[in-house]
This record gives sequence, C-alpha cells and structure tokens, in this order.
Amino acid sequence: MEKPRCCYDVVVIGAGPSGAVASSILSEKGYRVLVLEKQHFPRFSIGESLLPQCMEILESAGMLQAVVEAGFQYKNGAAFSANEDDSFFDFRDKFSPGWGTTYQVQRAQFDKVLADCAAEKGAEIRYGHDVISYKDVGDQVQLDVISEDDAYQVEAKFILDASGFGRVLPRLLGLEKESTLSPRVSLFTHIEDRINHLEYDRDKILISVCPENNKIWYWLIPFSDGRASVGVILPRDVYEQNQTSNHDLLRQYIAKTTAMNTFLSNAKFDTDVRKMDGYSCDVTRLYGDKFALLGNAGEFLDPVFSSGVTIALKSADLATHVLDKQLKGLPVDWDTEYAQPLKQGVDTFRAFVDGWYDGTLQDVIFAENKSIQIKKMISSVLAGYAWDKKNPYVKDPSRLKVLAELCRA
Ligand SMILES: Cc1cc2nc3c(=O)[nH]c(=O)nc-3n(C[C@H](O)[C@H](O)[C@H](O)COP(=O)(O)OP(=O)(O)OC[C@H]3O[C@@H](n4cnc5c(N)ncnc54)[C@H](O)[C@@H]3O)c2cc1C
Repeated sequence: MEKPRCCYDVVVIGAGPSGAVASSILSEKGYRVLVLEKQHFPRFSIGESLLPQCMEILESAGMLQAVVEAGFQYKNGAAFSANEDDSFFDFRDKFSPGWGTTYQVQRAQFDKVLADCAAEKGAEIRYGHDVISYKDVGDQVQLDVISEDDAYQVEAKFILDASGFGRVLPRLLGLEKESTLSPRVSLFTHIEDRINHLEYDRDKILISVCPENNKIWYWLIPFSDGRASVGVILPRDVYEQNQTSNHDLLRQYIAKTTAMNTFLSNAKFDTDVRKMDGYSCDVTRLYGDKFALLGNAGEFLDPVFSSGVTIALKSADLATHVLDKQLKGLPVDWDTEYAQPLKQGVDTFRAFVDGWYDGTLQDVIFAENKSIQIKKMISSVLAGYAWDKKNPYVKDPSRLKVLAELCRA
C-alpha cells in the first residue's frame, strides 16, 4: 500500500444523511473533511418518510433550500388503519414548537441532494471508496481504503463513522451489541401506485396493522411522481414459515388489509421486492478517543415511526458540535455532550416502538376518547420531537402504559 495520503481534520465514513450533514457542518466551519463512500450516488436506500424534526437540522446544515427545491412529496402527518379502525395525526397540530411538515423522499435522490450540498460547502467526497480498516497511530487515525483502481491509506485527527448498516467501526473495533428488539424481516418495493380514491391522503404516510397479527404492519409512502414505497414488517419466525417468493408474500399480506388492498387495487408492481432481515442493532459505546458513531452505525431501532433519518441527523448535529470544540482544543465530554443526549431521544422512540409491538401504543393510537392535549403530545413524538423534555411523554415515556389503560377503560 502507498504511504498515507495527506492528513484531514476529519474523515467521515459514508455519505448517507448523517455523513452528509456532519461533513457539511464541519466544512462550513472551515475543517478539512474527507468523505469516503463505498457506493456511487445516486443509489437505492430505504428510509423514505422523514419527520418534521429533520427540517430544523437540514436548515442549520444549510441544506433546506436544496431539499425544498428537489420537489419531494409534501408530508404533514401519519395515518393509521387496523381492521375497521382508522386514526390520523396531523403533525402541524403538536405540542412542541418547530416544523410540522416535511417530505417523503426517494432516498437515491435525497441522499444525492444532501451529499452535493456537503461538497458545495467544501467536503471532499470520494465515491466508490470502501473503508476496510482502522488503526490508532498516536495523535492520528489511519484508515485503509480500497477503491475500484487503488488501495491506499488516509490519516485524520478524528473519524466519524456514518456507514449505516455497513457498521464499519462497530465491526472493526468489536463494538457490536445485540438489540433488545426482536428480530424482524422487512419486504419492500417501489410501485406505480395509481391511487385515485378520494379518501386517500397523499400528504400522510399510511401505517396499516395486519388483521391477523398486530405485530405485522405495512407502510405506504407516496412520492411526488405517482410512485410509492410499500413494505411489510414480519416477525422473523413468521417469515421463516413462508414457502412463497418475497414478491408473492408481500402481495399476499397487502391483500389481507382493507385499506392497503383498496388503495392499491390498480397498482402496478413493477420493481423487485427487497428484503432486510434483522435490521435492529446496537453498540456497546458511541464514541472513543478519536471516533464517534453516527446514525445507524450506532443504534437502529425499527422503521415503525420513521425515526431513522431523524436520529441520524440529530446524531450528526450533536457530534459535530462536540467535535468542533475538541478540534479547537477545548475540553469536551463525549458522554454527557453526545451519547447521553442522543440516547434520551432514542429512548423516547424505543418506548414508542416497544409500545407499538406490545399493543399499548396501538390502543392509544386507535382510541377515540383521547384528549386533544394528549393527542398533541403523542403527535409531537411521532413528528420526531423526541428530545423535547417539556412533553410529558418525552420526560417519562412510561406514561404511555397508563394512557393505554385509560384508553382501554
Ligand atoms: C425497512 C426499513 C424502513 C425504514 N424506513 C424509514 C423511514 O421511513 N424513515 C426514516 O427516517 N428511516 C427509516 N429507516 C431507517 C433509515 O434507513 C436509516 O436510519 C438511515 O438511512 C440512517 O442514515 P445513516 O446516515 O446513518 O446511514 P445510511 O443512510 O445507511 O448511509 C450509510 C452510507 O455508508 C456507506 N458505507 C457503508 N459501508 C461503507 C464503507 N465500508 N466505506 C465507505 N462507505 C460505506 C453506505 O454505502 C451508505 O451510503 C428504515 C429502515 C429500515 C430497515
């Protein structure tokens, strides 16, 4: 391998949402930032329904205008359906201050918009460059990198691992930890939706619960070009009992729900069905002397409340703030300034995810007798404001259980 190439302040592994936002913020502050991205953009990625809390972070990273101008599907809430029950949350009607609307995005396009913004701010992005090793060499870190036509080393003062499910540093440094969430399988695809039902609200994600098993649920995420993302989440043991192809299984499950089946009656399924097995993951720690883990490279919970990109952006926002201080030679405490604040919001989402699968949150969501104020508080968390401790359901997420009891009464 060649001698290490020139030294950067920060190398970011991965140009997905967390990597793009982190590198944009740091480049704007004048740091020398190199982003190493294994794939070539645009490339497919799952995670298409954003939450309004994201908008604040995109705005502070200087990316808002580019996202608005990209023409993505407007989103103002979430609709839920189960058997004969329907419910919806309008995110503009929420407890926490801040954005109440956002977008549903084709990630190939969205991730490219963000990465291009980071490049415009001065980040150097190398596509098709795969990071394969990490070595602490005194006051620097050395990474081995392989590209299509080269193998080389690069040095930096600090590494931000934004490699998503690639989980580069958790694998290389033995930081992987099993998630407390049960293993689940997701099947999903893009379709030409051809939805023309008057009662269908394109401005909301639709989450439907399987009538046979409330641990199985579906998403319908419409895009602005007449296409949509559809997917189903199944417990792994249920998936493993299946004898059919993933395509047929997805179609069979969609046929079981009234809402999805009705809305998609004319849909054209024209794209291969993809599968993700066992996506929930965790780590033993989120930072070290010369690295921090962002987004999915740290912990990923579950797709049900579309929290992934929001957590990824929040992690980039928090980590770059601490790293800026560290690079300026100021004292920092990654635990109290990064890991703990990030975890606080993740734990709010965790309580909601747990509540969804044990049924308590489904009881709350479909209850007709919710007070307006409580609905606003739940709406806030569903809109991504999981860090707003003024919200009683953020300050103490265990209140959900009590609320479910009241809703059942
Ligand atoms: C089924 C499913 C549905 C989901 N739906 C939603 C949703 O509706 N809304 C939502 O907000 N979230 C959703 N998510 C979560 C969302 O996909 C992720 O949380 C989000 O993409 C994380 O962003 P990131 O920046 O951490 O990583 P990513 O977006 O995964 O980006 C990581 C990047 O790192 C690159 N990389 C990997 N390895 C290397 C390497 N060795 N060297 C260099 N580069 C590397 C990858 O190529 C990739 O471009 C869903 C997840 C699943 C599993």
